[in-house]
Amino acid sequence: MKLLDTHCHLCHPRLQSQLAGVLDRGRAAGVVGFVCASGNVSESERAAGIARTNGDVFFAAGVHPHDAKDAPPDYLKRIEQLAADPKNVAIGEIGLDYHHDFSPRPDQQRIFAEQLALAGKLAKPIVVHTREAFDDTLGLIGQSGADGGRVVFHSFTESADQLRRVLDIGAMISFSGIVTFKNTSYLREAAAIVPDEKLLIETDAPYLSPEPVRKIRTNEPGHVAHIAVSLGAVRGISPDALAELTTRNAIRFFGLQSVR
Ligand SMILES: [Zn+2]
Ligand SMILES: [Zn+2]
Repeated sequence: MKLLDTHCHLCHPRLQSQLAGVLDRGRAAGVVGFVCASGNVSESERAAGIARTNGDVFFAAGVHPHDAKDAPPDYLKRIEQLAADPKNVAIGEIGLDYHHDFSPRPDQQRIFAEQLALAGKLAKPIVVHTREAFDDTLGLIGQSGADGGRVVFHSFTESADQLRRVLDIGAMISFSGIVTFKNTSYLREAAAIVPDEKLLIETDAPYLSPEPVRKIRTNEPGHVAHIAVSLGAVRGISPDALAELTTRNAIRFFGLQSVR
């Protein structure tokens, strides 16, 4: 099985402290590429470092809504510099999170809008995080003039109606381990209607361990195979076929020509 984990936090201390083992276990499980997501400038710099020393690791650079209030004044310039790195494949994760509200909403909105504009200027894919902020998230994407086809809604957990609105703008949908949980049948039903070419999978490690390893506290990229099994069942195809499809989509969306 050839898998691509389109969203993992390799810079998280729980993964970075055992990085060689995490990557090797992922490769042994069939992971041919890892896209490391970042939440702030210093994480983006660390992600770039990991990507430079591992051919199969790529990274997204960006400031997460949780960190919006702490973004340094020069953050946009530093993200732009990191985006020039040959292993940078996206701006992210960026967006709005009104569930946690760790940053004031005006800060979240400003930082999201500024990074949407940067991604547009640089013609980079955009990794979006949204939680209980769906309308504002779609609104800001619309205002930015971003090409919806260059956007992925990561760790999708919204309703089927919202999923249709994401598909209407042409965006990609990425499912994490949440789609394997017993109490998320609504999400599996939504996952069944995503067109083949819009589907991606991710672990969001070290968070969100999928079934049947949900009890393992530190999730890691090698567990992405469980998501392929679950989504394959929902869509009536084999895990191998699901893996092949989503890996092909990820290579196209992020431009990962070096992955084979
Ligand atoms: Zn997220
Ligand atoms: Zn994440």
